[in-house]
Amino acid sequence: MSARILVVDDIEANVRLLEAKLSAEYYEVLTAGDGATALAVAASEKPDIILLDVMMPGMDGFQVCRRLKDDPETRHIPVVLVTALDGRSDRVAGLEAGADEFLTKPIDDVMLFARVRSLTRLKAVIDELREREASGRRMGLIGAAAARMAGTGGRVLIVDDHERQATRICTELSIEHRPVMEATPEAALLTARGPVDLVIVNIGAKTFDGLRFAANLRSDEATRNVPVLAIVDFDERPRLMKALEIGVNDILGKPIDPQELAARAKTQIRRKRYTDYLRDNLDQSLELAVTDQLTGLHNRRYMTGQIGALMKRAAMGGEPVSLLLLDIDHFKKINDSFGHDVGDEVLKEFAARLASNVRAIDLPVRYGGEEFVIVMPDTQMLDARRIAERIRLHVAGSPFRVMGGQELLSVTISIGVAASQAGEDDAQGLLKRADEALYEAKSSGRNRVIAHAA
Ligand code: GH3
Ligand code: MG
Ligand code: MG
Repeated sequence: MSARILVVDDIEANVRLLEAKLSAEYYEVLTAGDGATALAVAASEKPDIILLDVMMPGMDGFQVCRRLKDDPETRHIPVVLVTALDGRSDRVAGLEAGADEFLTKPIDDVMLFARVRSLTRLKAVIDELREREASGRRMGLIGAAAARMAGTGGRVLIVDDHERQATRICTELSIEHRPVMEATPEAALLTARGPVDLVIVNIGAKTFDGLRFAANLRSDEATRNVPVLAIVDFDERPRLMKALEIGVNDILGKPIDPQELAARAKTQIRRKRYTDYLRDNLDQSLELAVTDQLTGLHNRRYMTGQIGALMKRAAMGGEPVSLLLLDIDHFKKINDSFGHDVGDEVLKEFAARLASNVRAIDLPVRYGGEEFVIVMPDTQMLDARRIAERIRLHVAGSPFRVMGGQELLSVTISIGVAASQAGEDDAQGLLKRADEALYEAKSSGRNRVIAHAA
């Protein structure tokens, strides 16, 4: 997966070096020599990742990072701060400024590409979610994005068999979060499904395989999206690289610095809440996009998505798909005599009667206006007709109570019925035949069921 990376450094030679390394791996590289240029390029070019030097004259890396994270247009772009070799205090300040990752100078190639790869993956997920959220918002389905998420008050699971270290982590995190400790991977996996906001695992544990535990978290459906912070020994490089490969989100070196721990935990929790927020909105907008707001039935768009697969199954030798097209008789008169709101009440009541008169496998749909469809998989024409007749009677047989019970309206409907034919694998013809049958029901007097002859 390639990406566009913005490299920011005031020393030209550093920029060129990083540019050469990244280009050799087919990343597209943009560059900036100072903070102001970096902000301008970030805003106009929307890179996927920003590698940002901390020490720059004028606006330093922390300030640039804070500005990027304060702007809703650039907030989601991962920022990697490039710090001096033992810049522990720089790292803490950077995390507080909202940085996502760190690299120390001189930059180690393996670490550089491990970080860039993991952030490219993260960015792709965030882009996908943001894109869908934005289209949901354009359709007026969901509200504007929330402000920057808080990174406090998280439920944190600490998985470590080193009791003293685990207790220290727990104590430190209790200030802002709700930590729990587990000493075995079996217990920890159960707790992780809790759910939790962050898992901290000691990759170098003596009594269990920390890498395997992290891998298990990644493969379990219930814990796949939980951020994992791995405690590692920087001297054990193979294990560290393996952890990044498995997909742990962040690493923390031993001995553990309490401030760095707190800052990294906060960053991970905040990021998780942001992606959760995007995911929730997405589910909600998908739900809204396929549901008719007035009646709560599925809408035409949903039906169109479903019916194709049902028809193909039928065409491959299954039972036919039958379809009812139902239209309320003289509905316009109801609107004209009692008003649009009463018309709406009738539509709602009618939808409820439909939903309670079909089988679990049937799909009742508001097709548009006062037209409804029921898709019936695995159903012969004869059965479809019988069900249509039952629905017709259920509507005509008992009047609709409207206006809080003040008024009783008698309502009738006309229904056209059609069934799929051998080898027919799309819905167009089926809908057309149902429509012709409905037209015949209307023109021959309404309040009746007509099945298409073919
Ligand atoms: P027919 O027996 O031939 O079907 O006559 P009709 O009056 O039912 O059919 P027509 O298609 O002429 O009119 C349908 C009316 O349904 C017109 C439209 O204003 C009304 N309508 C469509 N959607 C809604 C809605 O959501 N609420 C209300 N109250 N009325 C609606
Ligand atoms: Mg009508
Ligand atoms: Mg109509």
